[in-house]
Amino acid sequence: MVHTRRDRRMIPDIIIWDPLTQLQMDLECPSCDERRTLLRAVRWKDGQTYYDQPRILFCIQRQVILASRVYRCFNDHQVLAHDAGILQLVANNIEIPFVLFHQHGVTRDLFRYIMSHIHAGLRFADIERLLGQMYYDTFASDLSSSALQVTFNNRNAETNQRQVQSPGRRVITNCFLRCYFEQEHMYSQRMSKLPSVWL
Ligand SMILES: [Zn+2]
Repeated sequence: MVHTRRDRRMIPDIIIWDPLTQLQMDLECPSCDERRTLLRAVRWKDGQTYYDQPRILFCIQRQVILASRVYRCFNDHQVLAHDAGILQLVANNIEIPFVLFHQHGVTRDLFRYIMSHIHAGLRFADIERLLGQMYYDTFASDLSSSALQVTFNNRNAETNQRQVQSPGRRVITNCFLRCYFEQEHMYSQRMSKLPSVWL
């Protein structure tokens, strides 16, 4: 099937996440107890089966798909490439392009965007409203310029806006808490390295 330039705007962006291959590094299985064995890639979370659905992340104007690799160790543990144990290993080499929470996840771009607005003094409710409007505008723009030619009118604009799932208060709060705890950890590390003469 050939996609026109208009239709391509309807295809979500995808983050392909396979640090084993992309960073060409050996990764030890975080699930092994004692003798940790190396992981090898076996398949993708690409939506091909019910169990291999990719995660959906919030970005600044729209959602994106996180398609991760699935790894397996010699003890038969299966580990996702975005498993917290893997991310901890990879974080020493690169800045991970997304931030995951228990139920949600955001791209690094949105994480920075939210934190910049918090630091600038905006309230969580204002950021939520701003992102909701940006999501709605992008959604409406994509639809109106696509082959579907969906018509919007003022009467159902509020209904349409509710149907576009944008980052809510919980996502914004999680970003704030993650940033706070990361900085607290960094602060403790830096302080523990300072000689007592500096204190
Ligand atoms: Zn293992």
